[in-house]
Amino acid sequence: MLPSFFDSVLQLIVRTSTDLPPDVRAAMKSSLGTEPGGTRSSQALTIIAQNIDLAVDTEGAICQDTGMPTFEVKTPVAANHIWMRQQIREAVAEATRRGKLRPNSVDSITGKNSGDNLGPGTPIVHFDQWERDEVEIKLILKGGGCENTNAQYALPVELPHLGRADRTLDGVRKCILHAVWQAQGKGCAPGAVGVSVGGDRTSGYTHAKEQLFRTLDDVNPDPRLAEVEASIMSTVNSLEIGTMGFGGKVTLIGCKIGALNRLPASFFVSVAYDCWAFRRLGVVLNASTGAIDHWLYRDPAHPISPMLDQAGFTRTGREISLHAPLTEETVRALKVGDVVMVSGRMFTGRDAVHSYLMKHEPPVDLRGSVLYHCGPVVAKEGDSWRITAAGPTTSIREEPYQGEIIKRYGVRAVIGKGGMGPKTLAALQEHGAVYLNAIGGAAQVYARSIKNVDGVSLLDFGTPEAMWHLTVEDFPAIVTMDAHGNSLHRDIERESGEHLAALST
Ligand code: SF4
Repeated sequence: MLPSFFDSVLQLIVRTSTDLPPDVRAAMKSSLGTEPGGTRSSQALTIIAQNIDLAVDTEGAICQDTGMPTFEVKTPVAANHIWMRQQIREAVAEATRRGKLRPNSVDSITGKNSGDNLGPGTPIVHFDQWERDEVEIKLILKGGGCENTNAQYALPVELPHLGRADRTLDGVRKCILHAVWQAQGKGCAPGAVGVSVGGDRTSGYTHAKEQLFRTLDDVNPDPRLAEVEASIMSTVNSLEIGTMGFGGKVTLIGCKIGALNRLPASFFVSVAYDCWAFRRLGVVLNASTGAIDHWLYRDPAHPISPMLDQAGFTRTGREISLHAPLTEETVRALKVGDVVMVSGRMFTGRDAVHSYLMKHEPPVDLRGSVLYHCGPVVAKEGDSWRITAAGPTTSIREEPYQGEIIKRYGVRAVIGKGGMGPKTLAALQEHGAVYLNAIGGAAQVYARSIKNVDGVSLLDFGTPEAMWHLTVEDFPAIVTMDAHGNSLHRDIERESGEHLAALST
């Protein structure tokens, strides 16, 4: 067996979770230079850049959602795949124990978290053989927020704002534009898309995800697909969805398209959307020892340079300080576009907590509270807890519950990402509350705003789903839905829909 194989896979997982590849860094740096200073998108990008630097410096998870670990392994013909799969599973469990991966594997029927990222279907490991005498392992960590924005189209199809997408490359182009528009900020834009033309429904999605293993700056060897990729990249940013859906000049940092043969009756276009926290790395191992021979996607001649040459998020002086618990008067004075710095007590709650609160009294008094849609990475240290990564999760999942919870329990502020729908907007107006958009994926920046973990409720749900009681200081966020019926998300969706219509021909 290969004595260094386990350690090499563990290194690969840790580095993938904590250090973005150079091509993604370059694209994000270029985005930062493109957005005019002082805009919402530029402030968000500065926080993202600061977060990327912090994650490397501290070897912390770039985003608290470390996603579905997906390994693509190529081995010499004689390799033992059964043994390798077991080693990969053990390395995943060890990385989870060390807090580099969040426990993300949940029984689909009971909702119980396995706690070690192992379970039926997790992690995903694909093996292939090749004639070379070395082992190649590539890994992608793709989170749930962006996974939920994936889309699959069966052509021909009528698309809002774009009209009919036929079984042509122009139809493919329309599907990609539609998928990006539909994602808005929910997948933590600016993102990248992997696209598959053809295949069946299953192979199409797999092939789309495989495109995400290409570097952002490569050129498609198929000139027809290269042309569609270039066309998308030259037009998509005119949608002005911007970072986190705040509006802005950069919406997409990459588009990679592959094609599979299909049945004559089917024409699928499958789109795999990945967020700015585009964690993808690889290693080539010595086939006898399993030791790392070299890293993929990295040029040793170009060491990593910091994303920011300054301190990171800098205040303009217009930020509004909020101290929780909040009064109705304070909250009603806020309006869309205000940048706030939240201090005081905050409670986390996502899917399991929201479902629980619909049937049970809350375990704590939520009057005047700030409810944070977040599933953090948490480390136990003796009898106490420490949050090591704590960015927001996608809020729209809580849309069926949020308005009722605000009404029943007097919640004054909800923090999350991607915005919420009309039911929540109406509840904010009626009961006096606001929605604050935090910067998706900025898990290290937000973990540093948390000054203490004061307690935890509903821990039975697993650490990401439990209700954590936190004391925070200067937690930055932007008011994107206010108590006056205004929603930045609704406005950007409408305006970008108009831009989309302009791209229909
Ligand atoms: S950056 Fe956003 S979409 Fe990506 S994994 Fe993190 S929370 Fe999910």
